[in-house]
Amino acid sequence: MNKAVFIDRDGTISEEVGYVNHPSRFRLLPRSAEAIRLLNKNGWLAILVTNQAGVARGYFAEDMIKQVHERLNAELEQEGARLDAIYYCAHHPSVGEAPYRSDCDCRKPKPGLILRAVNEFDIDLASSWMIGDRFGDVQLAQNAGVNSAFVLTGYGRGEWEHQRSSWAAEPDLVAEDLLEAVQKIIERK
Ligand SMILES: [Mg+2]
Ligand SMILES: [Zn+2]
Repeated sequence: MNKAVFIDRDGTISEEVGYVNHPSRFRLLPRSAEAIRLLNKNGWLAILVTNQAGVARGYFAEDMIKQVHERLNAELEQEGARLDAIYYCAHHPSVGEAPYRSDCDCRKPKPGLILRAVNEFDIDLASSWMIGDRFGDVQLAQNAGVNSAFVLTGYGRGEWEHQRSSWAAEPDLVAEDLLEAVQKIIERK
């Protein structure tokens, strides 16, 4: 069975810049490619899971997500790193029009995106991790039955310093950024 690290996009692998409605707004964080490379080298699946409700909200078309992810994959490839899969949710439960206005099962922190990955790869959830910069990513980890790593990039530092007291669960580890999280995860095993 495979071990996977599920990775949030905005604020975790890339800068949190609000809605990425054009590939030119997408900026990989400085140590992200190294983090993915480390996962690749150590035999972990690296899988991106991201909510992109800007589609449901009418801010951009679903094809924009694909264009942004082509850019992401190209930038990673230049640095010898590779994501094994990317899953996204373009839905919103109460905004926009069908089919994107939907009370779907894949909008994080619901576990649908991770469960799709489990269907396509042979993944041992109990030894897998979710890395993200928001409490919702910790909830997602809990809902999916994986371990959780919280990063202080993106919204992370603010949520950690000012909102943590109201969280119903704590992450299993906290790291400055994606690379440090990956290093700590690999050391743990
Ligand atoms: Mg995020
Ligand atoms: Zn969805």
